[in-house]
Amino acid sequence: MKTSTSGYLSNRVLKTNVGFLLSAGPGNSHDSRLDIPEPVRIADDLLVSSIGGTLRLTRIHEGILVQSQLQVALESECSRCLDVVEREIELTMEELYNYPHRVNSEFFVGADAILDLAPLMRAEILIEAEHRVLCRDDCKGLCPDCGSNLNYDLCDCADKRIDPRLSKLRELLDSKPE
Ligand SMILES: [Zn+2]
Ligand SMILES: [Zn+2]
Repeated sequence: MKTSTSGYLSNRVLKTNVGFLLSAGPGNSHDSRLDIPEPVRIADDLLVSSIGGTLRLTRIHEGILVQSQLQVALESECSRCLDVVEREIELTMEELYNYPHRVNSEFFVGADAILDLAPLMRAEILIEAEHRVLCRDDCKGLCPDCGSNLNYDLCDCADKRIDPRLSKLRELLDSKPE
C-alpha cells in the first residue's frame, strides 16, 4: 500500500474498527467527523483531493448502518474542452454493512471488526461523477476541425467554414490589394 510519501494517503484512512459498536448492541451509535484535507487514493482507479463531512455508525441487528454526509473534491475533465477541473461532489450515503458477512451482502464488516468506507464511497462517487461538468459556464470547447482548445487558441477553421453565399465576398476581400 502507498503512503503519503507518494503524494496521497492510502484508503486505510477510511477503515474504522467498529468492534466497540458490535459489542455495544443494537441501538447504539457513534458520531464522528471525517476531515482529510489531502489526497486519498480511494481505489486503484479513483484519487480524490480531499474529504470532509460527518459519519454516523449505528449498531443494528443486521450489522452496522452507515449514514454519512460528505463533501469530496476531485479532479475530472471538462466535458467540452477536456481540461482538468477541480470539482466538489456532495455525497449522502446510507448503507447497511452486514455483520456477520452474508453471501449476498455488497458491504460488510469483516471478521476483524473493520468497516471499510472505501468501496461504498467509490460506488457513490462514480455515480455522482457521471454528471457533466464544465471548466466554466461559457467554455468554448474544442474546435471540431483541428482540436484546438478554443478557450486558449484562436484557430482559423471557423473562417474557412464560411457560408458559401459569402464566399464571393470573401474572394473579393482576399484579392483586395493591401
Ligand atoms: Zn472546458
Ligand atoms: Zn480549428
